[in-house]
Amino acid sequence: MKIGIVGCAGRMGRMLVNETAKTKGLEVGGGTDLPGSPFIGKDVTLIAGLEESGVLVGDDAKVLFETVDAVIDFTAPAATMKHAQLAAETGTILVVGTTGLSNDQKDELKVAAQKAPIIFAPNMSVGVNLAFALVEKVASILDKDVADIEIVEMHHKHKVDAPSGTALGLGEAAAKGRGVNLDDVAVRTRDGFTGAREDGSIGFATLRGGDVVGDHTVVFACEGERIEITHKASSREVFAKGAVRAAKWAEGKAPGLYSMREVLGL
Ligand code: NAD
Repeated sequence: MKIGIVGCAGRMGRMLVNETAKTKGLEVGGGTDLPGSPFIGKDVTLIAGLEESGVLVGDDAKVLFETVDAVIDFTAPAATMKHAQLAAETGTILVVGTTGLSNDQKDELKVAAQKAPIIFAPNMSVGVNLAFALVEKVASILDKDVADIEIVEMHHKHKVDAPSGTALGLGEAAAKGRGVNLDDVAVRTRDGFTGAREDGSIGFATLRGGDVVGDHTVVFACEGERIEITHKASSREVFAKGAVRAAKWAEGKAPGLYSMREVLGL
């Protein structure tokens, strides 16, 4: 199976090239990065720290979609929308790890998924997807009169969106467990005289600094006790492994929007 990696010069892009190259049955079929990037024309595997392969970083995503079986995209929301359009036009499998998509952009992804298999997950690690399932279960048991739900996350100082896609995913899992819509109950920031906490709200707190790969804790704060579900990623490799696994899983699947929970059978 030939895998194309858009944004292949990025932090995750290089990791994805590595993971693809070492996975049996897969080959790096091509890579692109932002037009004008100094990496255009460089060897895709060489910049990922591997041996030269002769596959060069391009800037034409359309050509990539026409030549590979699946594309993995960890770039930026506007770029991902362009790539979703190309997936729909060519019927190519698309694995999206990009975070920070607006609700309108998520709707666009759903439309594109009518024409191609698209797997979209704010976090591709097995552990986090297990945490999603656990959070949904606990939230379904502890209703809003029993527990206040707060989600705390920390990431490295280069991260540009907040709260993280994973924190929002955990919030969605908690909201689903309670049978409510996250947008109706989320409190994404607090500052100044905020008044008392509203029952049933789901609060978020964002920390940024250093080289933290990704820490998330969902706190269920009750009277007299507290339950915390924590996940800590210590290497980006877990995300790359999950994305590559998703691309393999999608081979032969019908068009549709899939999540990592389906890929992992959770
Ligand atoms: P990064 O900035 O290091 O890499 C992004 C790359 O995409 C850059 O090389 C950039 O030039 C490239 N790019 C931007 N626009 C492009 C375009 N139009 N065409 C081709 N390439 C383009 O960032 P990163 O740390 O690798 O993270 C990328 C994204 O992945 C972020 O949204 C991040 O939150 C997300 N992420 C998701 C997971 C997950 O498991 N789902 C895990 C880690 C990071």
